[in-house]
Amino acid sequence: MRNVGIGCVAIVLAIAAGLHAQAPAAAKPVTKPAARPATTSAARRAGVAARLAALASDITSGRVTVVDLTQLLSAATPIIQLPPPFANTPGFTSHEISAYNDKGPAWYWSWIEVGEHVGTHFDAPCHWVTGKDKACVDQIEAKQFIGPAAVIDVTADVAKNADFIAGRDTILAWEKKHGRVPKGAWVILRTGWGARANDAKQFLNAGADGAPHYPGFGKDSAEFLAGERDILGVGVEQVGTDAAVGATANPPFPNHSIMHGAGHFGLTQLANVDKLPESGAIVIATPLKIQRGSGSPVRVIAIVPAAR
Ligand code: MN
Repeated sequence: MRNVGIGCVAIVLAIAAGLHAQAPAAAKPVTKPAARPATTSAARRAGVAARLAALASDITSGRVTVVDLTQLLSAATPIIQLPPPFANTPGFTSHEISAYNDKGPAWYWSWIEVGEHVGTHFDAPCHWVTGKDKACVDQIEAKQFIGPAAVIDVTADVAKNADFIAGRDTILAWEKKHGRVPKGAWVILRTGWGARANDAKQFLNAGADGAPHYPGFGKDSAEFLAGERDILGVGVEQVGTDAAVGATANPPFPNHSIMHGAGHFGLTQLANVDKLPESGAIVIATPLKIQRGSGSPVRVIAIVPAAR
């Protein structure tokens, strides 16, 4: 069903581009044959401009919907809990400066306190020791914030096993249905975990062993995606891109270790992943441009063909 929607958008874009490109040619007098295709680059630019205009029109008309993949950032936002002796991050706190009162009669503003890795956030390569000489958030090219989404649904596996780890086979199963993971993709694991986002206890899911239990990517998937595919990074609904059991793996947190070592990114605590098609959406994730930032809270959105 969703692929039909994508097809429609593509057709609309193609028609719009075609109309735009052909209009000037029709108006041109046929005095002499064109010596060489001097119009090529101008026509190409016009075609691209027409596709962008068609996209803007598709958004305002609702043929394309924009899905907010971001969790609410508040004092209650669940935060990853590392075991001792490791240091943990503070969460989010908002401090009011004024609110239409004596401190500022006509304005409301606050200052905020937040860890780089709190709530829906972006992991930069320099977050991990394997990527320490690679990009921090301020050094990433803006074009690398945008990519097609490959959404891998493992909800059924996670329902049976909260410690589910995506592997090479998980990604190959998606490719069997949708083709090769596109170049520059955000590979997003759909687990249903977002339903727990308003309850930190359920979200971290500590077991009888006291350790958290949630799904994620692992060594096998990371080696495959970093070594055999060409992606931007991975995204998850959980508090980290690695499954919780990755804390005791070798190397520890293997997805972080391998992906960041290869210069790739991570997105965590995504919301509304159930509203994305398995293929055909474009995800945009723009972290704050923090100097040497290892990550940043991020507003992640997806451009999605409308359901009808
Ligand atoms: Mn992080």
